[in-house]
Amino acid sequence: MEAVILLGAPGSGKGTVAEDLKASVRFEHVSTGDKLRDAVKAGSAVGLEAKAYMERGELVPDEVIIKIMDEVLRTGSPDARYMFDGFPRTVHQAEMLDRSLAGYGSKVSHVFLLDVPREVLVRRICGRRICRQCGAVYNIHTKQPKVAGVCDQCGSTDIYQRPDDNEETLNNRLDVFEQQTASLIAYYDQTGVLVRVPAEDRLETEEKILEYFKQS
Ligand code: AMP
Repeated sequence: MEAVILLGAPGSGKGTVAEDLKASVRFEHVSTGDKLRDAVKAGSAVGLEAKAYMERGELVPDEVIIKIMDEVLRTGSPDARYMFDGFPRTVHQAEMLDRSLAGYGSKVSHVFLLDVPREVLVRRICGRRICRQCGAVYNIHTKQPKVAGVCDQCGSTDIYQRPDDNEETLNNRLDVFEQQTASLIAYYDQTGVLVRVPAEDRLETEEKILEYFKQS
């Protein structure tokens, strides 16, 4: 089992970068945000617990997240390589992850910190639109579907804005991110696995991360 982490503010491009890199590197992309949104949609116990926190832009309690991640590791293949996106968000989660991975004889090999200025994040996130059917991501400023209102990938017209992608919730999410990440960055800096990646340009970001995969 191998594990790398994409660490970055909401809108830093973690999800897109992870999906793009799949074309070149074999790994499983695990996004806790996606898992939570699926749970909310399904109305499961986890979803019911997480919903209100997510709507306020606050972090879902660690116990809920740890339950989700334990399940991922337990049911995955022993030789899986994971790319975690949006996890861990707190030092407590990072410690729990280290402990779980150690149980499988593994550890975090790289933590890529995607670095994007705040004003760029606000523009990206408030303009973000998503296809509810297939999850394709668009942006009203930079990436409109070819036919207005119709998803390029699946043809659905159900393209929506995530309820937590409004400016007020976003500012809260960015504040939460900055507070929490300061200690996470210190945590991973200590173990020498942190790699800072300037991430305004998506292709350059992906090339940089790929270099590390080629080296390892
Ligand atoms: P994301 O899609 O990663 O921006 O996550 C959306 C929301 O899900 C966040 O604002 C949090 O409320 C919640 N969330 C996702 N991942 C975590 C995590 N690792 N720990 C706590 N809350 C999380």
